[in-house]
Amino acid sequence: RPGVASALAGSGSRTALSLFSLPDRVALVTGGNRGIGLEMALALAEAGAIVYCLDLPTAPDEEWLKVKAFVDELPAIEHQKKKAKFEYISGDVTDQKAMWGIVEKIVEKEGRIDVCMANAGILHGAECLEYDGADFRNVLDVNVSGVLFTAQAAGRQMERLGIQGSIILTASMSGTIVNPGQHWIAYNTSKSAVVQMARSLACELAPKGIRVNSISPGYIFTNMTRSFLDTQPGLEEKLSAQNPMGRFGRPDELRGVTLWLASDASTFCTGADIKVDGGQCAW
Ligand code: NDP
Repeated sequence: RPGVASALAGSGSRTALSLFSLPDRVALVTGGNRGIGLEMALALAEAGAIVYCLDLPTAPDEEWLKVKAFVDELPAIEHQKKKAKFEYISGDVTDQKAMWGIVEKIVEKEGRIDVCMANAGILHGAECLEYDGADFRNVLDVNVSGVLFTAQAAGRQMERLGIQGSIILTASMSGTIVNPGQHWIAYNTSKSAVVQMARSLACELAPKGIRVNSISPGYIFTNMTRSFLDTQPGLEEKLSAQNPMGRFGRPDELRGVTLWLASDASTFCTGADIKVDGGQCAW
């Protein structure tokens, strides 16, 4: 039975902290122009990765440009041959062939792809008995098909190159629980599909050394949350009171779990759904 000494031998001279670093690793983050995706992308870059942020607009937002300027000034981390880099790509996750092509191009340029954060998602609310078919299909197209196409695009290249990569899908606590009063039939359905998609991908890709996990955030302050908080005065307080920690989360509170799942700190973790929700699903 391996003891501490053999564990040390197994991880070479690496300290626990160094397991979280991503020198020369290449990452893709969809929905990386803002919100949760931008924070995830920044975390990966701070750990040394070359990060490609993909989003719908043809040009990134002002905030993204500020983060890029910050990353460009970061000093190289230990054992890093190529400095961390922050790039923007315009793309639509619902276009399967385009997504495959985009990741092929990243690999042509950087030589590899190690981390894929399939994070882009949309929220649309309407009462379940009235939910419009086109709106329903649109939510499932972005939140489910788009997540699969992103994971496929990266997974195909990881397999081809024999890279022991990490694919991380952004699900939601809405994949596990339903908050009464919210008309999120499509969103809730899509997010529970993402949790199960991560498990399915994890089982198929484990023999190839590719790990797949999902992250399920609770309410996090972003444009998405603002879009429904603005519809009802006092809603933030009401929803905060339903959370054991009594508050919403901040996007930067997802940076730790991102690094853990993306890096060698989690090499035996696959098919897991990690909840980052202030205990809301445990309530
Ligand atoms: P935001 O709306 O701030 O960001 C989502 C990003 O995804 C936007 O930049 C959006 O672009 C982009 N996007 C939407 N559709 C597409 C598409 N077809 N192709 C490429 N990019 C697209 O939301 P969050 O940062 O809050 O959400 C990120 C993820 O986290 C989502 O999957 C969401 O469901 C999930 N989540 C969020 C929670 C929260 O409380 N905020 C809680 C739990 C999960 P554009 O704006 O230009 O349309």
